[in-house]
Amino acid sequence: MEGKTQHVDVLIVGAGISGVGSAYHLQEQCPDKSYVILEMKDTFGGTWETHKYPGVRSDSDLYTFGYRFKPWIGPPVASAEAILEYMGEVIEENHIGDHILYGHRIKGCSWSSADNLWTVDATRKSDGESVRFTCNFLWMCQGYYDHEVPYVPDWKGMDTYKGKFVHAQLWDPATDYTGKRVLVIGSGATAATVIPAFAEKAAHVTMLQRSPTYFLCRPNENELADRMREIGIDEPTVHRVVRQSYIHDLMMMDKRCREEPDVVFEELKEAIRAYAGQDFPIEPHFKPKYRPWQQRLAFCPDGDIFQAAAAGKVSVVTDTLDTFTEKGVRTSSGEEIEADIIVAGTGFRLSVMGDIPFSVDGKAIDWHETVNYRGMMFTGVPNLVWVFGYFRASWTLRVDIVGDFVCHLLNTMDEIGAKRIEVALRDEDAGMELLPWIEKDNFNPGYLMRGLEKLPRRGDKPEWRHNQDYWAERDEIPNIDLDGQEFVFDGKRRAKGEPARKKEMAPA
Ligand SMILES: Cc1cc2nc3c(=O)[nH]c(=O)nc-3n(C[C@H](O)[C@H](O)[C@H](O)COP(=O)(O)OP(=O)(O)OC[C@H]3O[C@@H](n4cnc5c(N)ncnc54)[C@H](O)[C@@H]3O)c2cc1C
Repeated sequence: MEGKTQHVDVLIVGAGISGVGSAYHLQEQCPDKSYVILEMKDTFGGTWETHKYPGVRSDSDLYTFGYRFKPWIGPPVASAEAILEYMGEVIEENHIGDHILYGHRIKGCSWSSADNLWTVDATRKSDGESVRFTCNFLWMCQGYYDHEVPYVPDWKGMDTYKGKFVHAQLWDPATDYTGKRVLVIGSGATAATVIPAFAEKAAHVTMLQRSPTYFLCRPNENELADRMREIGIDEPTVHRVVRQSYIHDLMMMDKRCREEPDVVFEELKEAIRAYAGQDFPIEPHFKPKYRPWQQRLAFCPDGDIFQAAAAGKVSVVTDTLDTFTEKGVRTSSGEEIEADIIVAGTGFRLSVMGDIPFSVDGKAIDWHETVNYRGMMFTGVPNLVWVFGYFRASWTLRVDIVGDFVCHLLNTMDEIGAKRIEVALRDEDAGMELLPWIEKDNFNPGYLMRGLEKLPRRGDKPEWRHNQDYWAERDEIPNIDLDGQEFVFDGKRRAKGEPARKKEMAPA
């Protein structure tokens, strides 16, 4: 180990949208804490820096995917470039850049109860040296998937294919697809984004999907925001009001998808036809087997993928891929689809805690042996929080909520002189059945289902679940009672009847 060990109060892992937002909250709410962000890439942005395929954009609106503290000014759905610009402004305006160490890949984190410290070992890209940090608290903002190795199914005959094969996550923007036949394998958000972009220059684009996805077609504009701006309302107010209206609409959509999925599906079909024409066939390619919202709806600004399909530039095949051939792929029903470029939009390889080896007092942590506390903390793992956002609502809504919680926790620890906090099952949790992190009936994307045995487990009580329910959590998390028996400070539960440590609720 070269050089000195650097100590900080808080070490944030990752400079994606979670890490940068968390740093902002830490600076604002715990101004005396020293901190550093370690980021393995050479720049900030995480997801929005990794993905470089044509048309890469959000599928959430940026009034909610943006932070509560920084107004969003552009069209609701934004390109990766616009999101990076927004994040860059947050970093610059708040001097967060002074705290980010780029090119630092964390290789190991170990907790010592004797010192109440985490030791974090990293490799510095610039010179390959090992560098060591210690910190009192680890704020894990490393996301949930491997940024370098995407998920590619083990298809037959891949080595026989003579064209260019690439996973969307590894797309090189220098690739020229003008006049080429492009095959995109997969449906969902990536396909919905990449296909209309390819269709602009490619000879033809085919989407091969195993099963259909729900698509939500809407103009990429917000009338309320436009009207408020027209009458001279200031941007912070526009952001607050429009954010609230999206949150309300999302809640109504979520509720309606559960209560009247058929009516919602009729509306989704009508929106498709508004862009693709009344004769556009919905079946079989756009009629999913699952309930709307069991997986994220793929948002199509201005129905772009359907406009391209109606113009004959895009076709869809719903079938399983049997084998690659020299010229393309053959499906299980025997159809051969020829293509010059095949792009796999087949999703992620789940990475729990960045696949970093963790230990507590010399014992390796197996995350599957831990139980999660509201998707943030884990039994047996002190002084650590993971930011794992929402899938049905914008991920970042949870960055703000968890940020408030962590800062309240850190301030409370200072107030009571505690050096160590962990969560533990209570007497009332004895015998509680431990279940997989994900509730299959509630939400079941493939990359989480494939990696269930790597994820922490859940119980059947609200404290021990990440319920993916923003509307419940926006009230519950700010009102968490840190004197609750699930919290253990310095090895002791707080005595019943001590003054409660509730927090003022922050605006959503
Ligand atoms: C193409 C795409 C579009 C999406 N669109 C939306 C959307 O519209 N709405 C939505 O809510 N969600 C969306 N998501 C989900 C999205 O990933 C999250 O919303 C969000 O961007 C995750 O941010 P994050 O900062 O938590 O993690 P990430 O963006 O994954 O960033 C994690 C950072 O941690 C760093 N890191 C990881 N391991 C280490 C290590 N060992 N050492 C040092 N650094 C490390 C990584 O380099 C990375 O920079 C999308 C995902 C993808 C892939």
